[in-house]
Amino acid sequence: MKKIAIEEHFTTAALAHYSEPAAALFDPARWETAMRRLLDFTGVRLPQMDELGIDMEVLSLTAPGIQAELDRALAVKRAAQANDALAEIVRAHPTRFSGFAALALQDPDGAAAELERAVTQLGLCGALVNGHTHGEYLDAAKFHPVWERAEALGVPIYLHPANSYDVWHNLRGHEELIGPMWSWGVETATHALRILFGGVFDRFPGTTLVLGHMGEGLPALLWRLDSRWEFLDQRGIRLAKPRPSDYVRDNMVITTSGVCAHAPLLGSLLALGADRIMFATDYPLESNHEAVRFIETAPISEPDRAKICHRNAERLLGL
Ligand code: MN
Repeated sequence: MKKIAIEEHFTTAALAHYSEPAAALFDPARWETAMRRLLDFTGVRLPQMDELGIDMEVLSLTAPGIQAELDRALAVKRAAQANDALAEIVRAHPTRFSGFAALALQDPDGAAAELERAVTQLGLCGALVNGHTHGEYLDAAKFHPVWERAEALGVPIYLHPANSYDVWHNLRGHEELIGPMWSWGVETATHALRILFGGVFDRFPGTTLVLGHMGEGLPALLWRLDSRWEFLDQRGIRLAKPRPSDYVRDNMVITTSGVCAHAPLLGSLLALGADRIMFATDYPLESNHEAVRFIETAPISEPDRAKICHRNAERLLGL
């Protein structure tokens, strides 16, 4: 079956230094391989896509990317460089690669303009954001121009994990909990809920937020969110739709990146429906072989598999 994988990462020689903090999350040999593969497009990546039947990868600059840059002007410059480099790869292999833009959210108005340039001039199909930007989250009013532009352009924003702004008290003494195994999911789900309860989807109802890693746990928690939202007497917050889950179902789409297990896939299918899940690997930090085996053997109907493997991505990303 045709497959489009939508959380697949790259870097360039000029941008590779932003990935250095992530090295601590991997053993040295694994990190060395990952770095080599992040810089590669045609040596290992494309032949492996051919071997496994991955027709297209939607590429994004690996986390934390230019959001880690402290110098605002340099971040703006680097984001444009990253997007130009990505567009060049897409232009060279238009049937095999598409891409999400990197945005320098250090400059929200500039980020909105860069998103428009990336979509209308470079042919990219949305943006991928690596969590907070120096402690600021996408519910803040200063980021409204970015949402407004994404809505107008009809492109999604992929919220990708990164380390939290500070180390939570309950993680101290348990470094193993910091990173993709645990804290990234909590951090990213919390960020998504800030966006939801911050009213972003009421203000910009046409926007789509993409969450990786099978929705960062949210699909399993919808009933509890709805029931406790009523209990809270909504804390003076007024949302247009009655239940938090309405926004998760209407404005969020999840991907299977980094979760190759059928139980959470089936749970997410029941919670969100087959139109809201897209296939992804999280290459090269995760295995393409395992991701492909997982989706090809999932106990789901063939029409649902087609939606997850390619149809939803084609519709949402205009591929
Ligand atoms: Mn990833």
